Amino acid sequence: MTDLGEEFAAAMPRPTGSSGRRLNPYTDELRSMWNWRKIFSKLGTHDQCVQFAEERGLIPVQKICTYHRKTMILTKESGQVGKFRCRKYNCRTKTVSRAAGTWFENAHLSLTLIFQIMYAFSEGLSYHQTRKELASDVGLVVSDRTVANWFTYCWETIVLYDLENQRAQGKIGGPNKIVQINETKFGKRKYNRGGHIEGHWVIGMIEDGNDDLRLEVCPDNERSADILVPLITKHVQEGSIIHTDNWRAYLSLPEHGYIHKKVDHSDQFVAPDGTHTQRIKSQWRGPRRPRQRHAYEELIRAIKYVYKIE
Ligand SMILES: [Zn+2]
Repeated sequence: MTDLGEEFAAAMPRPTGSSGRRLNPYTDELRSMWNWRKIFSKLGTHDQCVQFAEERGLIPVQKICTYHRKTMILTKESGQVGKFRCRKYNCRTKTVSRAAGTWFENAHLSLTLIFQIMYAFSEGLSYHQTRKELASDVGLVVSDRTVANWFTYCWETIVLYDLENQRAQGKIGGPNKIVQINETKFGKRKYNRGGHIEGHWVIGMIEDGNDDLRLEVCPDNERSADILVPLITKHVQEGSIIHTDNWRAYLSLPEHGYIHKKVDHSDQFVAPDGTHTQRIKSQWRGPRRPRQRHAYEELIRAIKYVYKIE
């Protein structure tokens, strides 16, 4: 993984202090980092947030009418970020929400709050800490549920970004090594842009004592043995001891050179022989890896990547 911090420091000019002494490069890096003061001063108003979203490619600045092939007019009166309207009288396309397909589509929170929750997420704050930071004397207090939902969107976006940019080296597991495997549905609201698709099946694999998490989006959004087994053989060495739940697709694992142990989640968390999948399941709830120094910028980059603007 590239150390963004060093990249930043290298790219920044190195000013000298008033005494003419060269400042520690880390001083520059600290200045380039986000903190709450910066969040409130640079993203403190709706207009600042819209401008920032434009500059960072999170919302489109213009749109072409697909029918007339002409630039549409942006009207700001409707929706949080406005909508595009065709100049031509009687156009079929008429209007398109500027938020359509973006990170902000269907958002019920103000943009300022969204950027604040994103920051809280990237700083690794708990729900309680986040609500405390966002509580104001007059405004609304966000609920645990709202924070949890947006943390999930953030986390899923980062995972999807990592998924498409991962450079997995070799396989995990091996003889006498335990690999926990589990599937979950991702992006209940956000992953499938537009439409009301329920989410996407993602399979996760992690070796005990190793943080190298392997993830794959299931082709055709299915989790049959035909889909799951090739994803497992791609990432997990033969001879590994694989722990899963009772899902039937895993039953054929011994035919592929694995030792298979399962735990029945309908009546137990840990099987009598110690088999469990708690660690892989905890991955679905959020990041367990160390925070990056530029986590907020990473999150914005991931959103820009996952919610591409046409
Ligand atoms: Zn038109």
